[in-house]
Formats: sequence, C-alpha cells, structure tokens
Amino acid sequence: NHIIELQRVWKRYDTGGEVVEALKDVDFHADPGEFVAVMGPSGSGKSTMLNVLGLLDTPTEGTVSLDGQDVTDLSDREMTVHRKRFIGFIFQSFHLIPTLSALENVEMPTLFGDDPTARDRATHLLERVGLGERLDHRPDQLSGGQKQRVAIARALINEPRILLADEPTGNLDRKTGRSVLDLFDEIRREDDVAVIAVTHDPQLGDYADRTVELIDGRIQ
Ligand code: ADP
Ligand code: ADP
Repeated sequence: NHIIELQRVWKRYDTGGEVVEALKDVDFHADPGEFVAVMGPSGSGKSTMLNVLGLLDTPTEGTVSLDGQDVTDLSDREMTVHRKRFIGFIFQSFHLIPTLSALENVEMPTLFGDDPTARDRATHLLERVGLGERLDHRPDQLSGGQKQRVAIARALINEPRILLADEPTGNLDRKTGRSVLDLFDEIRREDDVAVIAVTHDPQLGDYADRTVELIDGRIQ
C-alpha cells in the first residue's frame, strides 16, 4: 500500500494572461521505508511537486492520497491536520530558529499540543542523530551537518510516515552530505518512513531505491 500517491496530477499557474504548466499528468507514489530521489533541471517542477506532496499546495487536476485516503479536496484545516500527522519537512538551508537551542528547535512542532512527553522525545531524537552532547547549543554554534541533523530530529518529532526533503545535502560538503544520507537511510529502515528528496546531488541517487526524473513538468 502506497503511503503517498499522486494520480494524474496537473498544476497550472495563471500568471495574468500566460498559463504555466508546472506539472503535467504526474503519477507518483512512495511506499513505507522507500527512499525516492526526484531529479531534474531548474524549472522542471520539482518544488511544485514537493509542495503538492507536502499538502502545501493543491493540484489543478488529479488526486493526492495519503495511506489510501484521497485528501485532494479537504479543507485547509483538515490538510493541516494531515500534514502534521503524516509529513516531516527538511530544507537545504535547515530553517532552524537561530535564537532557540537545538532541543527547543526540535520541540517546536509540538509547542501548541501541550504534550508532556515532548521534551523527552526531543532529547531522545537528538541523541539518536548523534547530538546528545549538543542539546543546549544554538544553531550558530553547530556545523552545517549538525544543523541538518537537528532539522531531521525536528522533522521526526511528530512521528511522520513521510519525510520530504528539498536539497537536503545542498549546503553540505560531500562527506558531511554522505553522513546525512546515512542517517536518512537508517531512519527509513528503522522507522519505515518514506523519504522523498528533491536533489541535484548525484550521491543521493546512490542511496535511493528509485530515481524519478522530471523534465518540463513531466515524469520521464
Ligand atoms: P523546480 O523546482 O524544478 O526549479 P518549480 O516547481 O519551482 O521548478 O517551477 C516549475 C515551473 O512553474 C517554472 O516554470 C516556474 O516558473 C513555474 N512556477 C512555480 N511556481 C509558480 C508560481 N507560484 N506562479 C507562477 N509560476 C510558477
Ligand atoms: P531551502 O531551505 O531549501 O533553500 P526554501 O527557502 O527554498 O528552502 O523553501 C523551500 C519551500 O518550502 C518554499 O516553497 C517555502 O515556502 C517552503 N517552506 C519554507 N519553510 C517552510 C515550513 N516551515 N514549512 C513548510 N514549508 C516551508
């Protein structure tokens, strides 16, 4: 059973006169524990696809399903509930809050939930990504690879079924990039999480079970 699936998805942007077709008839799926790389030139629709997969944007046509449930036409509020339950996001530039400690950054997604176990879970996740000795460090006291590990711990705090990563190794040197990819590999095996990464990094292709190429909005 696919944990996430796009069926015949089109995305059109109407830019006042000219219509841009960012996604054209895209079929895509990922299974639990699978690592899928999405590659393609600039402007080919990768970010649009990631936004649709992440329920941050809705398709013009076609369907989005999570764990077999069609979520295409849900209200914004229901989308947010599904996004929080199913999806963790990781970015090229980490998007950590500079004034907060590593621990507080990882706890952030739980702050409105009044969850008494959040602090323990955040601590455990930071230990798991190798930062048990860095709980109180702020982002500017951490290396790039360490920052990405904090971001990965944050993405895992609500126990998502899917991790969506936008160029996760784009700001890291090769060796650090590889250690972050090793971590993704461990997570998807141990937690049965689907990892979907948009990337230009050929190294990432070596880790992926499958590479999907987008060209001009179409999957090749
Ligand atoms: P990639 O991530 O592969 O660089 P994008 O998904 O960002 O590609 O863009 C795909 C196409 O859609 C491009 O032609 C881009 O200009 C266009 N596009 C993306 N977002 C918008 C938007 N909000 N409004 C209009 N056009 C957009
Ligand atoms: P990068 O860190 O990879 O440079 P960008 O700043 O290009 O990331 O952001 C990638 C996309 O993710 C953008 O479309 C942005 O609007 C969206 N985005 C940024 N922050 C968040 C967030 N906290 N949650 C969800 N989407 C976000």
